[in-house]
Amino acid sequence: MDIVVVSNRVARGKADEPVTGGLAAALLPAVTESGAIWVGTSGRTRDVCAKEPFVEIEALGKGVLATLDLPSAHYRGYYEGFANSALWPALHSRSDLIRTTPQDYASYREVNCIMARALMRFCRTKTMVWVQDYHFLPLGAELRKLGVTKPIGFFLHTPLPSRDMLLAIPHHRELVEAMLAYDLIGFQTIDSQRNFEDYLRCELGLPGTGATVRSRHGETRLGTFPIGIDAELFADRATKAAARPEVSRLRSSLQGAKLVVGVDRVDYSKGLANRIHGFAHLLETEPSFRRAVTLMQIAVPSRGGIPAYRALRTEIATLVSDVNGRFGEPDWTPIRYLNKGFSQTALAGFYRTASVGLVTPLEDGMNLVAKEYVAAQNPFDPGVLVLSEFAGAARELDAAVLVNPHDTSAIARALRQALTMSGPERCERWQAMMKILRASSVQLWFADFVRTLDDSARMALPVVTEVPTVPVAASRGSDAPVAAPVVRLERH
Ligand code: UDP
Repeated sequence: MDIVVVSNRVARGKADEPVTGGLAAALLPAVTESGAIWVGTSGRTRDVCAKEPFVEIEALGKGVLATLDLPSAHYRGYYEGFANSALWPALHSRSDLIRTTPQDYASYREVNCIMARALMRFCRTKTMVWVQDYHFLPLGAELRKLGVTKPIGFFLHTPLPSRDMLLAIPHHRELVEAMLAYDLIGFQTIDSQRNFEDYLRCELGLPGTGATVRSRHGETRLGTFPIGIDAELFADRATKAAARPEVSRLRSSLQGAKLVVGVDRVDYSKGLANRIHGFAHLLETEPSFRRAVTLMQIAVPSRGGIPAYRALRTEIATLVSDVNGRFGEPDWTPIRYLNKGFSQTALAGFYRTASVGLVTPLEDGMNLVAKEYVAAQNPFDPGVLVLSEFAGAARELDAAVLVNPHDTSAIARALRQALTMSGPERCERWQAMMKILRASSVQLWFADFVRTLDDSARMALPVVTEVPTVPVAASRGSDAPVAAPVVRLERH
């Protein structure tokens, strides 16, 4: 397949290694089976940008994996600065946590230019490019400047919040305008797509007709493509993982108590504090659950260079210790808190051991852990998924016990309902969710997006509709009006 997929992080096909984040985890089976070229960053930096930026090009299943080092001078500004201290908080409706500088934005743009130049090595005349996630919002526009005319698609793995949140992003207008260089923009949920359309209508004056937007770049299609998982693979892993030493040790250590499992990166979007308060509320209000249930929270350290993440790690560790100190007994610890990552095979075994999967993000593009938990269950004795209404996965997995993650007493009630649910009801809910997971695998997601992108071949001539510039005073954001790069678009 002649397609290049681009993401910040990549994964290698080793089932025994933890994967960093849902995007890399999800793309791995799709890339290995499709034969795509997957390009990402190596996670390393170098002082001077060499002529040949790729440090490694290796086989990955039927496909190829290529990683590049980023320049040390720009890495922090790009990754910790603009991507994760401006875009990430705003996209997760936490504009109060935006901390960024003009230099961060310059580094973000520079890394996008570097990535575009590096990609040219793989762009032949028939090659389509599929860009992943908020790290590379303007990458498509950079590729157009370099003369790429074949379809370029973009998929946003995070939520796309309401217009007010987007307006808080420095240079929001310039970035969204650059995104219109993509032929196809995909979202996890219809709500995100609607929010984007609202921004285009209100801020850029682009009316759009249904799912198509016309700008000076040409036509851009918008679509909703909820990402899936390889449910069969996870089910298989879970069956096999039962025999793994760490899984059997976990089972025997429970001494008959039911297990509730949470698996997250340490991130403010994941609602970890509320989850722990909710669990404590259950123990407080229903003493019969003491000793009878244990929460195992896997909290993988993430983005440790960013102060908000370091503060969160301290906050959660303190909270866990308070709850354990308050309710613990000499022979029972209410919360097992693990600050490290596990392989997906080990996770599958943990999921299957747990009577409840507790997934309570405050905002989440999709949340693959929720889907993996369901896929890993024993069909004859499945556990119950307690799922935040604000995870993209809730749109599909509505047979879960849905909960408002801001309401800690609701979390306690949902836990009670899950822990006491009858076998037939558990089976019925699980079957409904498995049906959906099987019908929407990550392989189908990949194929569906690529097919739609292929169909979205750009119009032969640029469309004349101009993006109106907005006077600075009238703009609610911090941006001055920007002129989009004029690109000559030709169909090949
Ligand atoms: N994951 C893992 N090991 C861990 C914790 C998580 O491999 O110890 C994987 C997990 O299986 C899932 C992904 O990381 O595929 C997390 O994706 P999710 O969408 O839930 O959250 P994200 O981190 O992308 O926000």
